[in-house]
Amino acid sequence: MKLYNTMNKRKETFEPVTPGEVKMYVCGPTVYNLIHIGNARPMIVFDTVRRYFEYKGYKVNYVSNFTDVDDKIINRANEEGVDSETISERYIEECKKDMAALNVKEATTHPKATEEIDGMIEMIGKLIDKGFAYVAKDGTVYYRTRKFKDYGKLSHKNLDDLQSGFRALQVTGEEQKEDPLDFVLWKPKKEGEPSWPSPWCDGRPGWHIECSVMSHHYLGDTIDIHAGGEDLVFPHHENEIAQSEAANGVPFAKYWMHNAFLNIDNVKMSKSAGNFFTVRDILDQYDGQVIRYFMLSVHYRSPLNFSKDIVESAKNAYERIVTCAENLNFLLKSASGEMTPEEKQGTEEAESFRAQFEKAMDDDFNTADAISAIFELVKWINSHVDEKSSAAFLQALRKELLELTDVCGLIVERTPDVDADESAYIEAQIARRQEARKNKDFAAADAIRDELLQKGIVLEDTREGVKWHKE
Ligand code: AMP
Ligand code: ZN
Repeated sequence: MKLYNTMNKRKETFEPVTPGEVKMYVCGPTVYNLIHIGNARPMIVFDTVRRYFEYKGYKVNYVSNFTDVDDKIINRANEEGVDSETISERYIEECKKDMAALNVKEATTHPKATEEIDGMIEMIGKLIDKGFAYVAKDGTVYYRTRKFKDYGKLSHKNLDDLQSGFRALQVTGEEQKEDPLDFVLWKPKKEGEPSWPSPWCDGRPGWHIECSVMSHHYLGDTIDIHAGGEDLVFPHHENEIAQSEAANGVPFAKYWMHNAFLNIDNVKMSKSAGNFFTVRDILDQYDGQVIRYFMLSVHYRSPLNFSKDIVESAKNAYERIVTCAENLNFLLKSASGEMTPEEKQGTEEAESFRAQFEKAMDDDFNTADAISAIFELVKWINSHVDEKSSAAFLQALRKELLELTDVCGLIVERTPDVDADESAYIEAQIARRQEARKNKDFAAADAIRDELLQKGIVLEDTREGVKWHKE
């Protein structure tokens, strides 16, 4: 299994730190608003990475944080006249609802920054003791960037280039830094902000220290995979490496994975450009499964363009998989028996699509090609099953289809939104209608169809028999 490591700029064979286990940390959202459609990309991509590892038999410890102390949260709280916890708790709940709609699994742990302050104070203390951090007059603690010899190794940046860039950007109030490259680990509180006591001043942590501490707390010294969107490579992940490796004295993560950005109609999404969409906006128009399918239809390291046409075609493609699963279940209702020798051979042929799927996923999680393999399987199933197929054959194909779609987190067997009684009634009415048609009593047959239609149930006469769905 190979994955692209941003650190070494090449695909590398995956070898876990602990055999059979995967420890991964994915930087999560800052919770001051509903998450936007771009935020959904890392959630879906890395959830799929996790699912594939699990499919392969690994035990995955998946940690993804909520950044619940930040300027944006504080501003929003001030605007609404509430405390920042009210804001962060509200948007953590909303974020969890969006994740559920997108079928993103709950992380093994979803730590919150505000619940890890002790660990942050401890790590900052360690960095000060080792000479990697210093306390300024007002109690701000800075990281001494130049002291960390490997600084820039992830983003492939050179310290002197960075230095000139930073000079140009220098802002007032930072004169107390020893060097423009130094970054904040702890800052003094301001009026109306949440704060915690520390040996340096009452204050709050900088953003980067959170992830170093939470990753270490839940996953230990060296983890397998650290991931997030490509905008996090610099400075966030670079700074995390500097903090963690200086404090712990061992490599922080073996593999660094970054997804490319999602754009809207080929333009960067932004509020000022008027092309900003929350996940909730899109869920008003499309099923979460369609969004998920759309996100995985392009390799995670390629930019992804969101447009109405592309999402519409994702919807049609996803529906084709659903129809195939529905057809299998429909045939299964009246099928029985073991496989014929031809069917046995058929299942072997169908298994070749699983091999194709795995080959694509083993190649840096190429979900675009993996989905093509699912389509090959769907095509094969559609042309190899009918009313004469045995139950065992249909079950074997159904199992393969569900296992592969489940790796992608795609739910292709929709739970009918009718209860068991209603479903039994519909089936009985369909049987009565069939009987009426057999007796050439077409008026009675049509009356039954119309009665069901009034209840929102649409009948469909197909080659294999009568199917129904809700309008
Ligand atoms: P934030 O709340 O801005 O820290 O973002 C949370 C996650 O979403 C990070 O992994 C970001 O890299 C990622 N992200 C933000 N915007 C986009 C986008 N337009 N496309 C893909 N990923 C994004
Ligand atoms: Zn992070």
